[in-house]
Amino acid sequence: MRPSVAIVGGGWAGCTAALTLAEAGVAVTLFEASRTLGGRARAVELEGQTLDNGQHILLGAYEQTLQLIARLRPAALQHDLWRLPLTLDQPPDFSLTCPRLPAPLHLLAGLLGARGLNWGEKLAAARWAHALLGNADIPDQLTVSQLTCNQPVKLRNLLWHPLCVSALNTPPDMASARVFRDVIRAAFGGRARHSDLVLPRRDLTGLLPAPVAARLIELGGEVRLACRVTTLEAAPDAVTLGTRDDTSIYSHVILAVAPQHLPALAMQVAALEPVGRAVARYRYQPIATAYVQYDPAFRLPRPLFALADGPAQFVFDRGQSHGQAGVLAFVASAAADLSANWPDQAVAQLHRFVHPGPARWRKCIVEKQATYACVPRLARPPVHTLHPRIFLAGDYTAGPYPATLESATQSGVQSAGALLEQL
Ligand SMILES: Cc1cc2nc3c(=O)[nH]c(=O)nc-3n(C[C@H](O)[C@H](O)[C@H](O)COP(=O)(O)OP(=O)(O)OC[C@H]3O[C@@H](n4cnc5c(N)ncnc54)[C@H](O)[C@@H]3O)c2cc1C
Repeated sequence: MRPSVAIVGGGWAGCTAALTLAEAGVAVTLFEASRTLGGRARAVELEGQTLDNGQHILLGAYEQTLQLIARLRPAALQHDLWRLPLTLDQPPDFSLTCPRLPAPLHLLAGLLGARGLNWGEKLAAARWAHALLGNADIPDQLTVSQLTCNQPVKLRNLLWHPLCVSALNTPPDMASARVFRDVIRAAFGGRARHSDLVLPRRDLTGLLPAPVAARLIELGGEVRLACRVTTLEAAPDAVTLGTRDDTSIYSHVILAVAPQHLPALAMQVAALEPVGRAVARYRYQPIATAYVQYDPAFRLPRPLFALADGPAQFVFDRGQSHGQAGVLAFVASAAADLSANWPDQAVAQLHRFVHPGPARWRKCIVEKQATYACVPRLARPPVHTLHPRIFLAGDYTAGPYPATLESATQSGVQSAGALLEQL
């Protein structure tokens, strides 16, 4: 049978896997249940504007993702992504900026120059970060709260815990210290530009999934939107997929669905039951985004600010990043205990340092299962399964990053690579 591969799931992992295979000359069909590609990082239409299901931010260390975006549309690096030196600006009390110096000197300079910390705290932070970037062996059951317990309270509250929540979307008392260390190392242990904050300047579907789909079609592939795969049947020499309308036979399949959707498909194939059961034990953390439209003439002094004392951790000015004048996006990560009036509370957090005037409209999107909880000893499966014709891709497969765009695109490339090796 001539290789023909079905990719189930058009998030960033599935799109990356499909592109990698199509560029290697393999016939691919990409199935996506929704009408829009992008999965948990996709465009949504609200109030006549193209917004996102949740405000996203990338790190300079996300090389796989950034290269992919640039490869598909070389102009994207200039027009669609905005690189800023790492800045945690939380007015009125705290501010840290890593200057353009070689790593990890930039972190050291940032910590020593931080506003709102005394010299004891600055030195404690610098020593601790240095140890973390070194060979610190971290027991795999340790949480971030335990890892940071000897740091001054102010450092935990202003720096380490907000970094943990925004990078792992998991509260520090649940979050894996090892994964946290790996993210800090990726950001600060390599090149200085790895710690840059990279802001999308266009909607998330337009950033990668839509250009991927265009390229797939150019290469003779097929993209089936609003087409949920409901059945999966595996024989030794082929895999049959069923949708509401039809069934089709493929030589191989990549399951690129979110972990919460994997068990329903995996439990239909005996060889996939162990991975289906393991992933069914995952717990999830929400992320909430509140978009607020102010007077279009209003702009924040910077494109983003950290916010103190919850519920939101960040506010982004979409006027500056996306040209959506006066639209601010408030983000609350690890938002399990949000009250219904959290957007009012988030606006009150902003009012501590700036007053944008009355809101014209306000919309909230709560992604209840935004990411799996990145807890110690989480069993993350490899991209291979026990069935030689079925592979996995997604932000939950084994890799160095927590649930991020980078873990999704890395797994897409890995999964396609593992499949290609079998052809
Ligand atoms: C609100 C929010 C904010 C976030 N912020 C950031 C951030 O700032 N930085 C960052 O790096 N990451 C962030 N993330 C995480 C990031 O979005 C995810 O890690 C990444 O998008 C996961 O991609 P994926 O392809 O693995 O999975 P998904 O995006 O979940 O893709 C799976 C796809 O499969 C489809 N599907 C499911 N079942 C079927 C089926 N049976 N048939 C066909 N299709 C199916 C789904 O519709 C979906 O499109 C955020 C996530 C959310 C929700």
